[in-house]
Amino acid sequence: MSNQQALVIFSGGQDSTTCLIQAIQTYGRENVQAITFQYGQRHDVELERARWIAQDLGVKQTVLDLSLMRQITHNALMDEAAAIETAENGVPNTFVDGRNALFLLYAAIYAKGQGIRHIIAGVCETDFSGYPDCRDVFVKSMNVTLNLAMDYDFQIHTPLMYLTKAQTWALADEMGALDYIREQTHTCYNGIVGGCHECPSCVLRERGLAEYLESKKAI
Ligand code: ZN
Repeated sequence: MSNQQALVIFSGGQDSTTCLIQAIQTYGRENVQAITFQYGQRHDVELERARWIAQDLGVKQTVLDLSLMRQITHNALMDEAAAIETAENGVPNTFVDGRNALFLLYAAIYAKGQGIRHIIAGVCETDFSGYPDCRDVFVKSMNVTLNLAMDYDFQIHTPLMYLTKAQTWALADEMGALDYIREQTHTCYNGIVGGCHECPSCVLRERGLAEYLESKKAI
């Protein structure tokens, strides 16, 4: 894959940081770029982390302002006053309608302008089955749509699609990046550095890490 380039949709969290490090190892640092979306997340901590990590890893990062999302949708991820809960249909109220479709569309427009075909997204349907736009079928359909929309051969990669959180930690460990990701990434919905240990995101992350470390001990 020597002169192929890749664009990673990068939030600064565990999953997208794992994808970014994997992309650097696959394509070479000079062939990887990151794109980060700002859309009125509850906390800036995540965005600061994303900037810090991209800089630390020596990857060019483009930050796009999608705060217009606030004009058309309301949800707990963007509203500090709202409590995070799971609705009766199993979808957490942190779900932002259309988010991954928008992210992929903007990422593709940017990528084409840069001559980049490979777009990498850390979406995963294993643990977060409540998010419809994290499903493989959605990503595949979006890939077709983008190729038709721009007459360009985009290839969307979702390396974490079928991994559990424990397997994502295992992948980080294989790449020699477990401690880095553990210490540098931010995943907490409540914006607490080091994690609140209570929100669904923290619980998932910590349970996955404990599971992985446990399985490692068993070997
Ligand atoms: Zn938390």
